[in-house]
Amino acid sequence: MRVTSGDALIELLRARTVVLTTHINPDGDALGSMIALYLFLQSRSIQVQMWLDDNLPRMYSFLPEIEKIVRPPASTLQVDLFVVLDAGDASRTGISATSYRGRSLNIDHHLSNRDFADLTVVDETVAATGVIILRMLEEADCGISKQIANCLYTAIATDCGFFRYANTDTQTFYAAARLVSYGAEPNWISEQLQVMPLSKITALSKVLDTLEVSGCGRVALIEVPPEVNSSDVEDTEGFIDYPRNIFGVEVAIMFKPSKEKQTVKVSFRSKRLNVSDFARSLGGGGHARAAGCTLKGTLPEVKSMVLIRVLSALREAGL
Ligand code: 5GP
Ligand code: MN
Repeated sequence: MRVTSGDALIELLRARTVVLTTHINPDGDALGSMIALYLFLQSRSIQVQMWLDDNLPRMYSFLPEIEKIVRPPASTLQVDLFVVLDAGDASRTGISATSYRGRSLNIDHHLSNRDFADLTVVDETVAATGVIILRMLEEADCGISKQIANCLYTAIATDCGFFRYANTDTQTFYAAARLVSYGAEPNWISEQLQVMPLSKITALSKVLDTLEVSGCGRVALIEVPPEVNSSDVEDTEGFIDYPRNIFGVEVAIMFKPSKEKQTVKVSFRSKRLNVSDFARSLGGGGHARAAGCTLKGTLPEVKSMVLIRVLSALREAGL
C-alpha cells in the first residue's frame, strides 16, 4: 500500500524494534539514508539495527556509525518494522524473507519500484532517498543533528553527481541548503569522497584499457577484468562516467562478471535513452539515466546480447 512520508513517520515512531536495510552494492544514498534514519530512531530510544548483505565500500567509512552495520543474522528475527531504503525491489537487498518477521516499509525513489512492501513511500521526483528521509525528519520536528545532516548531504550529493545530473532540480538544491543550515559540511564530504587508494587508480586504468565503442560511436562499453575483480579493489564507482562522457555516446555500459556466481553485473548510464525501462526489461531497474541489472551467463554471451538490445532500443527511440 502506498503511504505518505508522514504516515511512515508515524509507523516508525510507533515501533519498538526496527531493522533498517538497503541494496547490495550500496552507494552514498543507500548508506547515508540508512544511517541518518538509524541515528534519528536511536535518539527516540527505538531499538534499531542496520543490516547489509554485502561488504561496505571503504570510501564511505567516514560516515558516522557505519561500523554498526551488520550482516543479516542466520536465524529469523521478529521486528515491529523492517525498513528497506533506496531499493525498489526486495531482491536488491539480498536478504531472504525468512530473516525477519514483521511489517515491511519501503522508502524509495526509483522509477522501477515494484511495490513489494506492506507500506511503500515512493517519490520518483526526488534525486535521492535522502530527500524523503530529510522530509520525514523535518516533519518529526525535533531538530536535525550535524551527524544526520552530513549523512543526508552525502546521500543527496552522491545520487545527483554533486548537483550535475539531470535529476538535480530546485528540490535537490533546497534540501542541500537546509542540510547545510543544520551543520552539513559539503567541502569535508567531497574531500572524503574524492580521495581514493592508489589501487583504485590502477584498477581504473585496467578497466579503461577494455574500452570499446560501437553503434557509430553511440555506445561505449567497458568491462572489469578478472584481475581487478579479484583484487582487493572493492569499488568501481565512477568508472562508468568515463565512457558516458565521451562526445557522441548515448549509452555507456559496464560489465562486471562474477566468476563464482556465473553472472555479470551490468551498469547503464545514458544521456537521453530511458535506461530504467531497458534495465527493467532485463530483470533489473534504476533511474532514467542510471540503471543496472545482473544477468546469468558468460561475459561474451551477456555482452553481445546486451549490445544488440541497446542498439535496437536506440533505434526505436530514434537516437
Ligand atoms: P549502478 O550501475 O551504479 O550499480 O546502479 C545504477 C542504478 O541502477 C542505481 O539506482 C541502482 O539502484 C540501480 N540498479 C543497479 N543494478 C540493479 C539491479 O540489478 N536491479 C535493480 N532493480 N536496480 C538496479
Ligand atoms: Mn538512491
